[in-house]
Formats: sequence, C-alpha cells, structure tokens
Amino acid sequence: MREIAYADPASVRFPYQDEIMEGESGQGYVLRMSLGNGLRSVVTIKSLLGKTHSMAFDANDAPYLAHWFGANEHLLAFALEEIEQGGRASGCRYAGHPLGRSYFLVRSFPKICPDCIEELGYCRLAWDLALCVACVRHRRVLIDACPWCTRPISWNRAALNACSCGCFWAENDAAGQPSNDELLIAHAIDLRMPDRSRVGAWCSPVSPWSSWGVLLQHLSLDGVMRIVFALATAAAYDFTAPVEPRSRRAMPKAQQTIRMAAGFGHKVARLEPISLRTHRPSVLIDLLCDFVASPSVESSTDFSTAQSMLHWLLSNSPKSTLHSRHASLAQLTLF
Ligand SMILES: [Zn+2]
Ligand SMILES: [Zn+2]
Repeated sequence: MREIAYADPASVRFPYQDEIMEGESGQGYVLRMSLGNGLRSVVTIKSLLGKTHSMAFDANDAPYLAHWFGANEHLLAFALEEIEQGGRASGCRYAGHPLGRSYFLVRSFPKICPDCIEELGYCRLAWDLALCVACVRHRRVLIDACPWCTRPISWNRAALNACSCGCFWAENDAAGQPSNDELLIAHAIDLRMPDRSRVGAWCSPVSPWSSWGVLLQHLSLDGVMRIVFALATAAAYDFTAPVEPRSRRAMPKAQQTIRMAAGFGHKVARLEPISLRTHRPSVLIDLLCDFVASPSVESSTDFSTAQSMLHWLLSNSPKSTLHSRHASLAQLTLF
C-alpha cells in the first residue's frame, strides 16, 4: 500500500480493469475498482490524487482514474461532478445535466438501495441527487446509515454492499416503505438518468403524474430540483401548513423537503389561494427568478413553469416589498 501511495501517478495501472457502467456513479466506480484490485477502500486512491479522506472525486480526476482502472475518460467524467469555473457556488454538471445549486448533489454521505447493488452490481448515479430517497424498482427507501451499527454509509467503506461492522445490507435491512411523493421524485430523477431502461418503469397502478407531479413532468433535472426546493421553501412560509423543525441530516432533510413540497405542490396544482407567513420569501423568489433569468435554462417548459409559479406566488402573496422588488416579474403571464 505504501509503495503505491508514493508512486508516480502516471506509471500506476491496476491489474483489474473495467469500463464504467451506464448509470453508475463515478464515485461508486472508483470504490468498485479499488476493491476489485484488493485495496481496502478508496482512501489509497484519494491519497494518490492528493485528496484528503473527506474529499469527493470529481471530473478533474477522471484522466488519472480512467488510466488506472481502464474506463473511458469521457464516460467517467460524465459520472463525476463537473465543477463550473468559479467554484461550486456557480453550480455544477452531473450526468450531463447542469445543476444550479451545489446542494442538489450529495458528495460525502452516499445513499444506496442494497437490493439494487445486489442485482446491478454498481451504485447508481441517481442516488447522488439530494432528493433521491427511494428506489422505484424495489419500492423501498434508500439507506444512508448501516441498519446494524447506525454509522453513516461512507464512500470510504470496505465493501460495495456491506458495512465495516460486518452487516450485509441486503440481508439485514428491513426495507422502509417510501411515500408516493418520494417515489414520484425518484421516478422523475430515474427518467433523466442514463440507466433508465435498465432500472425499469414506474410500476404503480396510479399514474404518477396525476397529482402535483404534472408540475415536474416535462422539466429538466435542474428544473425538478428547483421547483421541489422552491415549493418546500414556500411551504415553510405558508400560514396554513404545520410548522416543522428542519432536519439536519441529509436523508431526513430530503424526505422533509419532499413532504413539504408535495403538500404545497397540491395547492399549486389546484391553484388554491395561499397566505404566506412572510412579506419577504426571498429564498423562494431568488430560486425562481434566477431560474427564469438563467441562460442555461434547458427547456422552455422550465422557463414557463418557473414563470407561472412566480406569477402565482406574486399574485397570491400580500402587498409587500416583494412586489416592488420584482414588479416586472409580477406582469408575467400564465402559460
Ligand atoms: Zn433498488
Ligand atoms: Zn454497520
């Protein structure tokens, strides 16, 4: 191990080589290949790249990683976070999708479906999206902690499908039931992933787009994220909704975001009148304004959905600085 850590990176080539699979997370690929080559975790690879234990792999690491493990460099870069010039504050690209906010992606504490890992043999890209908390194939909640020792699951682990405490997740995990809204978001993400055909179609007898899901149906991945976070933010300002203390851990926080977004989304879908708790829902308005003004908006649907939500929010919220600050936006028309 020590000799590898001090070797010239360009001269390293591991004996077990494989291509990255379609829909496989880049970080998951490095873990799979490290273990396949007899390393105890990805930590050796991180030190070869001059990274600390807590740093994530990103697209800048793709040339070396591809050379060491035998992947196509572009396919590997596609499955790793591409950080925009100017740093994460300006967003990133993941799985071919521009993402406008750094928090749309989770880097250090992965979530997994143990049943998918058993069947597919890889960690999915989809799970790295912050709002992906369920597996549509197995109709179960993903796990972010070992059910046996409760420690958070890490990319630095010693097996793809097991904890360092010895717990094999697929055998020992009592799979949690996802809510329909968690499945809806997971499905919306799956449809935008490269392994969508392999992971199977939506299998609910109820059409997933029959409720507030229609708002998400034709959006880009970034659009889905923005609208869900915007709806959850709006829900936090809604007078009629119960006040929930915000969770801190990524997975329950994402579940809470989906729950709040769904509650408010149903109101939007029915165009119900709302009463916001504040005169300055700035986070929400900024998310949507930024979206409308963004030159990287992927589709006209993203644009018109954000416009409609802004219009609806501005016409429903009380007279305030909001209107003067965004007077021109208040003139937007519904599509
Ligand atoms: Zn699964
Ligand atoms: Zn454990």
